[in-house]
Amino acid sequence: MTAPDLGARRARPAARGLTPAGSDPLQTGTLVLSPHFDDAALSIGGALEAGAFPDPVCIYSVFGVSNYTRNRFHAGWRRVTSLRRREEKRYAAALGAICAFAEFQEAALRIGSDFPSLFRCRGNAYPLKPARFDRAMRDIVLEYRPRLLLCALGIGDHWDHLLVYRAVRKMRLGLRLPVLFYEDLPYAERLGPHSVERTVALLGPRFHSITIPIDLDAKCAGLTCYASQLGNDDTHRVRKYAWDLAKRTGAKGPSERLWTSTPAIIAL
Ligand SMILES: [Zn+2]
Repeated sequence: MTAPDLGARRARPAARGLTPAGSDPLQTGTLVLSPHFDDAALSIGGALEAGAFPDPVCIYSVFGVSNYTRNRFHAGWRRVTSLRRREEKRYAAALGAICAFAEFQEAALRIGSDFPSLFRCRGNAYPLKPARFDRAMRDIVLEYRPRLLLCALGIGDHWDHLLVYRAVRKMRLGLRLPVLFYEDLPYAERLGPHSVERTVALLGPRFHSITIPIDLDAKCAGLTCYASQLGNDDTHRVRKYAWDLAKRTGAKGPSERLWTSTPAIIAL
C-alpha cells in the first residue's frame, strides 16, 4: 500500500490562541492523548493537518492493544494490534508527527465486547487500579513534557475515553500546561453540536470553545489510513459534523472544535 496524499504540510501560522506563551523552555511540542489508535485522526485530524499545534506533535495511543477491526472483535489480538499500529504509524508519518503506544488493553479485551461493557453502563472499567492508571497517564505527560496537551472530552461515554479524560482532569504535574479537550468523533456527530455543548457545560462552568476551520478533504484523506477500522459511513459522519459545527458556530466552513478551561493556560 502507498501512503495517501495528505498534501504537503502547510507552514501556516499556528491558529490564534493555540500556542501557549510563557511555558517552561524544557517543555516542547504537543502531546495528543488518543484513547484508541484512530481517535486523534477522527476528532482533530483537520487541525493536525493544518499544523495548528506546536511541533513536534506526538500522538500517544493510550489503549494500544486491540482486538477490534471494523464491526468485529477477534480472538487474535496480537495480529490486530500489529495491523492497527501500522495504520497509526502511517497516518502519523504522513502528518510529520511522532506516534507512541501504551500497552493498555482496550475495553473489549478487559471487560467484554458487548455494547454495555464498552460504554458507561456497568462495572469497573479500569485497566488496573484507578490510582495506578492515573499515575501512568501522568508519567506519560511528564516524560514527554509538552507545551500543549490535547485530550478527548469523553463525549459518547466510551469507558476508555472517560478514563483518559478523568486522569487528565485529576493530574497535578507542577508545571504550567494548557490543555485543550477535543470532541470525540464519531460520537459527537450522533449527539450534535448543541448536545455536545450541554454535555460540556456539565463538566464545569469555566469551559469555553475554540473553533478551528479545516480542510475537510485533507482530513478525510487521512482517514483512509485506517482501512481496518473506518468506512464510508464514518467519513460521512466526520463530514457532516464538520458542517454541523460551521452552522452552529457561524464559522465560514467545515470546522473542528476544542474546549478549554478559563483561563486557557492552567497549572496542572
Ligand atoms: Zn476511541
